[in-house]
Amino acid sequence: MTQSSELVHVPLQEFVQFLNKENIRKFFFVIDPQRGVVISSHPKLQPIADFLQSDTRDFAGHEGLFFQVSKRHGTLQGAFVHRTNRGQGSGGLRYWHYEKLEDFLRDGLRLSRGMTYKNALAGLWWGGGKGVIAHERAAGIHDPRVRAAIFQEFGAFVASLQGCYVTAEDVGTNVTDMANVFSRNRFITCIPQEYGGSGNPSMATARGIVCGMEAALEFAGAPALERKTIAVQGMGNVAVALLRLLFERNVAKVIACDIDAELVERVRNVFAGRNLEGYVVSADDISILHTGCDILAPCAIGAILNPRTIPKIRAKIICGAANNQLEDPERDDHALFDRGIVYVPDFLVNRMGIVNCANEQYGYVLRDPFFERHLKRDWEYSVFQMTLSVLRASRTSQEPPGKVAVRRAEELSLVDHPIFGHRGQQIISSLVEGRWHENPCDV
Ligand code: NAD
Repeated sequence: MTQSSELVHVPLQEFVQFLNKENIRKFFFVIDPQRGVVISSHPKLQPIADFLQSDTRDFAGHEGLFFQVSKRHGTLQGAFVHRTNRGQGSGGLRYWHYEKLEDFLRDGLRLSRGMTYKNALAGLWWGGGKGVIAHERAAGIHDPRVRAAIFQEFGAFVASLQGCYVTAEDVGTNVTDMANVFSRNRFITCIPQEYGGSGNPSMATARGIVCGMEAALEFAGAPALERKTIAVQGMGNVAVALLRLLFERNVAKVIACDIDAELVERVRNVFAGRNLEGYVVSADDISILHTGCDILAPCAIGAILNPRTIPKIRAKIICGAANNQLEDPERDDHALFDRGIVYVPDFLVNRMGIVNCANEQYGYVLRDPFFERHLKRDWEYSVFQMTLSVLRASRTSQEPPGKVAVRRAEELSLVDHPIFGHRGQQIISSLVEGRWHENPCDV
């Protein structure tokens, strides 16, 4: 198994077996600052480094990718550090199933870059990173003891990275998992409130989405959310908070769906008496995306805006919480623009989860101005102003909004931290010099 195509395309479990056979517990891929090429901790894994180097879709000069196979349950755990000029690579931890190594890598690469953009556009002094743990479908993922072991090992892994990556909660993880990570690692945000953390970010995220919707409506010349019809994909944490805010603003109707029948029933009950049409879908049912509505709010999964779905979208505006809604960031951004649909880039409006926990170390005050300014209209980095300004610039330059937002995010993300400079890169260089991959971090 030496060709990159073989290594990257094998089922993930086969790759883990390969690592076990080669006695590789920890490995990394980093950019060699002198030569500007991707190098691997182990010569046997260089084909993966070559795959990354040649990939133009998802690999974007990521500063460092670090991995371990956990000792107790054999999970592949990764920390993807994209860019750290503004500060440590910060982004949540996803616990998800992946068929192939390539799927795992691509998810981490895209999500970590998205975090660089989100943090930069929000004016936060953080870089972009993401944690990913791959789970086997039936392997006790709901068993608290199994989870505790997996997340404690991830905690020790992140601690060993000496602060170039700061983790948090994301899809597939919860506050208990965060408490387990926190028990072995201080480089973490989104810890439970009883540990001094900021707690569940869903309402904060939903408030940001509403600001984005209002900016898009203003841009489109429609006055407000009142009497609008909104279609929401997903009825999970953010969607429920969003529904609450939308009904408070007297929308005419919300049409929403989820694959979880019990959840749909529960949410219907919560909003009994409101004009909510909630229905159950199978995972491949994309009817919600083609529903007649004013605003479509994707709040479930990524890559749902693509050549199969875009031609039939009837919404005038798309603005939702799901990360990486465009399957192909350039192609699908253009396709929506060409169809005259106002697409609000996800990383522009779904920042409030990370904003909520970004400054945990500075403590809390009521109506915190460092939080609330993101949701007001008088700060240039607020969700409303950033969204409006990106949409207006897009109209002026006749470029799709995603492209405009990425360009701004790229510029902002290259600004060095005012005190610590590009310290994340220095940490990564120290890890490489100290032969990080040879030091076990067992718990
Ligand atoms: P969640 O897991 O609570 O909710 C997601 C819901 O989507 C689940 O109920 C799930 O059953 C449903 N779903 C999955 N596949 C579906 C499909 N094909 N069709 C319809 N429903 C489907 O997650 P969440 O915290 O509400 O986050 C929603 C999205 O927003 C995620 O993509 C997440 O990454 C993103 N996001 C969340 C936050 C936050 O603060 N929670 C912040 C930023 C971004």
